[in-house]
Amino acid sequence: MNIESIHAHEILDSRGNPTINVTVLLKNGIAGSASVPSGASTGEHEALELRDGDKKRYHGKGVLKAVANVHKKIAPRLIGMDVTRQRDIDAAMMELDGTMNKSNLGANAILGVSLACAHAAARANKMPLYQYIRHVFQLPYSKFRLPLPTMNVLNGGAHADWVLDFQEFMIVPTQRTFRERIRAGAEIFYALEDLLKQKGYSTLKGDEGGYAVPLKTNEEAFKLIMAAIKKAGYTPGKNVFLAMDPAVSELYQEKTKRYHLKIEGKTLTREQMIALWEKWLKKYPIMSLEDGLDQDDWDGWVQMTKHLGKKVGLVGDDFLVTNVSRLAKAIEMKAGNAILIKLNQIGTLSETVDAIMLAKQYGWKVSVSHRSGETEDTTIADLAVAVNADFIKTGSLSRSERLAKYNRLMEIEEEVG
Ligand code: PGA
Ligand code: ZN
Repeated sequence: MNIESIHAHEILDSRGNPTINVTVLLKNGIAGSASVPSGASTGEHEALELRDGDKKRYHGKGVLKAVANVHKKIAPRLIGMDVTRQRDIDAAMMELDGTMNKSNLGANAILGVSLACAHAAARANKMPLYQYIRHVFQLPYSKFRLPLPTMNVLNGGAHADWVLDFQEFMIVPTQRTFRERIRAGAEIFYALEDLLKQKGYSTLKGDEGGYAVPLKTNEEAFKLIMAAIKKAGYTPGKNVFLAMDPAVSELYQEKTKRYHLKIEGKTLTREQMIALWEKWLKKYPIMSLEDGLDQDDWDGWVQMTKHLGKKVGLVGDDFLVTNVSRLAKAIEMKAGNAILIKLNQIGTLSETVDAIMLAKQYGWKVSVSHRSGETEDTTIADLAVAVNADFIKTGSLSRSERLAKYNRLMEIEEEVG
């Protein structure tokens, strides 16, 4: 099971931007591969995604430097190592990089290798990836539980040319089986399309496969979704809930200390933002609210948690960036009560699992997430099952890079029964 060779190359993600794909080949002939996703509304505290900056190629977005780092720096260090020593492999890459945010080798280069090792090791151990992750990190669970999907059916913000100020309006079907949750989500998505057509709205889609509709107000998104749930024959607040990721770090301006809502022509203070969430929580069955305040507003998060933390999941994405230190501080301060998990925010599988397990230890909810720029890679589906995540966030009910994860979860459900 020792590593024989590591090969990386440049591929394109769902937006047509370059990203990295890595294959790890073992001495026994078994191989494993992984592709790395990429965000658009990235948090300021994320690990660094290394791009070439050569304007003549892909608008500077090429990843040939990351590819070269895999071949010239990472591979020589890892070749010969036992691929099942995931923690040692990740630690070796972190040491080789030597920075806090992986800016030397690039978190994309490091994560590609980290995940390709896990895939190869799972295969070599004749285990599905979800089982292998549980095994290699000795996670203390016996049964496998499928997550609740949070499905982003109306896209706004940086993912949809700013048709809405808030980035993601999601449905959360809670049927007993994962397969039934997918069916409910798809049927609601069809109903939403019918409603949009009836109203003469566009049915074009954003980066995560949800409709990108220039509505007059942000709130109209929830009104439409509530109507679609009912039209599809489901009951909001009973078997289907709502979730949102307004991603307000994108709206916050340091100079004015306010959130700028362009389509409504309003600017809101931190307190007004919290008041808006409170109003919506009363009107709509919202289970989960992600990045409801700016990524650096620690006091605001404490205030918001005091105020709303008993009623709703307050999920830190740009705020916590899958980072154990930020999470530990948030737990200590009672800032939030849930974490979004994105492997490429931190850059290794080991650190990602550590963030998840720390969250769980303190009773925080865990949502494993895609990025807005994705590939056909389905690692996050297996990761969500391995750790018994509460939620998975992997987009709408269209576009194969999103559905690949849902399809993988339906397959896993059949295996784990
Ligand atoms: P990103 O957005 O992948 O573009 O960062 C997803 C999110 O904010 O959850
Ligand atoms: Zn987010």
